[in-house]
Amino acid sequence: MHTNTTTRQETLRVLFGVIPSWRLSQIERALFSPSIRSFGEITTLPALWRGPLHEERVFVSYREAQVFWSQKKDTFKALLTLADGKKIETVLMRNARGAFTVCVSTQVGCAMACTFCATGKMGFSRNLSSDEIVDQVRHWIYFLADHPEVSARISNVVYMGMGEPLANYEAVRQSLRTILAHTDIGPTHITVSTVGLVPMLDRILDDAEWPAVRLAVSLHSADPKTRKEIMPTSYDDFPETLARWAEQYFAKFDSKRRHLTFEYIMLSGVNDSEQHAEALIGFTRRIGKVRINLIPYNYTGDIFRKSTQREIDAFQERLESAGVDVTRRRTMGEDIDAACGQLAVRKRG
Ligand code: SF4
Repeated sequence: MHTNTTTRQETLRVLFGVIPSWRLSQIERALFSPSIRSFGEITTLPALWRGPLHEERVFVSYREAQVFWSQKKDTFKALLTLADGKKIETVLMRNARGAFTVCVSTQVGCAMACTFCATGKMGFSRNLSSDEIVDQVRHWIYFLADHPEVSARISNVVYMGMGEPLANYEAVRQSLRTILAHTDIGPTHITVSTVGLVPMLDRILDDAEWPAVRLAVSLHSADPKTRKEIMPTSYDDFPETLARWAEQYFAKFDSKRRHLTFEYIMLSGVNDSEQHAEALIGFTRRIGKVRINLIPYNYTGDIFRKSTQREIDAFQERLESAGVDVTRRRTMGEDIDAACGQLAVRKRG
């Protein structure tokens, strides 16, 4: 008998004892096939295994999926009900290359309490298992197979949904390894976004098992005081600590493969002034090869106002004129609350 959040591997061990790694790999590969929707359909498995596995209902780790379509049909949000009744959200969005990016959640809720984020207001409930993270990607593989009219493949995965990925380090690392092993999505097409948990960032430096995926650190201000106001769990000297960490990161890894991005959400009158642009320029000069990604703020019903188009343009131009590598995130899925910072499970009338 398994508990509500027992992983597939634990279930297999309970049912069949020690399982050779080639057999586990065979099962995991089948889990990513769009045409296989139950253990009974994995014909490479002995029939004696298929029956008991079918009974255990761990083929997918969610028991219900409700999908919301944006009007433009370029963004889709799924509300997944997990085995223990907890709910998470995952998003599928068309990217600049015409393929799809999946945004996965890593926790139910989040303890980081960033003031601009809807998930931060929910508080923390629990970590997701690696299966529960991986199954969000599988959900969208099935969705695309069932909706040929949406036509495009998944090319990227971003760990930017509900939760702080590095606060759930082992499950996130396992999920990355599984996705890399059983899909054609390469490490440079996967981005893990973190608020910047320094002990976990340090752990990545020495972790040979951590895949060479891209990292995005939420900076949001190069001024420690402003950052602390926006992100109350921030370390007092975070920009300084992050700069020192980034120096080690680039000393250790090839900066082309291990690309580093700093996310910067544009909040009017909070972090978008000329002084903030100058602080950011000084900060990026110190670190060197890093990209700043400006994120237009998406309304989550709190005290902030989004920076206007003009304010964002002026901020971007100032950074670019100083030679900073800047990109701007497109806002997608606002009409279904699927845009960045809007993920929160709530009652719908
Ligand atoms: S922005 Fe990310 S880390 Fe901050 S509260 Fe939201 S989900 Fe958590």
